[in-house]
Amino acid sequence: LLSCAGIRKEFGGHVVLDDLSLDVAEHQVVALIGTSGSGKSTLLRCLNLLERVDDGVITLDGEDITDPRADPDRVRRRIGMVFQSYNLFPHMTVLDNIVLAPVRVHSRAPQQARVQAREWLDRLGLADKALSYPDRLSGGQQQRVAIVRALVNEPRLLLLDEVTSALDPELVGEVLSMIRDLKESGMTMVLATHEMGFARQVADRVVFLDGGRVIESGPPERVLGDPEQARTRQFLARII
Ligand code: ATP
Ligand code: MG
Repeated sequence: LLSCAGIRKEFGGHVVLDDLSLDVAEHQVVALIGTSGSGKSTLLRCLNLLERVDDGVITLDGEDITDPRADPDRVRRRIGMVFQSYNLFPHMTVLDNIVLAPVRVHSRAPQQARVQAREWLDRLGLADKALSYPDRLSGGQQQRVAIVRALVNEPRLLLLDEVTSALDPELVGEVLSMIRDLKESGMTMVLATHEMGFARQVADRVVFLDGGRVIESGPPERVLGDPEQARTRQFLARII
């Protein structure tokens, strides 16, 4: 579904992603782990064209999205992204937050977008919040709304950047359980996380990044339970 080959990204001469390659198959869930600054968010932002790569090629369904002629809006319709801070607009209801981009950016029919948004809210147990304003929702509910907002475009791929790290511990569970449901429904996802327990549960593959390079990649049991690389072992020893 998605393929990155030889990705390089620099910020002012500082190499943040270094000859990085990664393939994601349809219905696969890939967890990116690594120390702060290892390049997880930058990689996700490059996949979504929020950052332009300096070298390398990213293809989605065989189409080169790093081609300067690729339309970023069209790419973002097919690759949804959710951030650590949920970024809901405070002056808009949940429903309006969700349909804003599909209608304004992607020229979807407002009525159809609203029906679809309601269906998603229903499915994810948020039906009664459709007309609420974000400040009436818990952090966990707001983050789930932000995920719904990414889903209404029916993306091929969903990118999740530390979606639980701004939440109080008791609210983390509901967001993780929603991500588990999405996996069950076959959604392809790439997620950056500091929660190794979650990576182990939900990911088909764990990718350990260090200094913008893939150090090790494989099934969670192996990468987290019996890593081959010394650097992966050091990282895991520090955080557990
Ligand atoms: P964390 O676990 O803290 O979220 P991360 O793995 O997501 O870390 P990135 O946010 O991708 O790491 O950052 C990788 C490196 O790129 C860091 O050294 C960071 O300072 C640098 N960086 C990221 N964005 C920019 C930017 N817009 N301008 C300059 N440097 C940046
Ligand atoms: Mg990050």
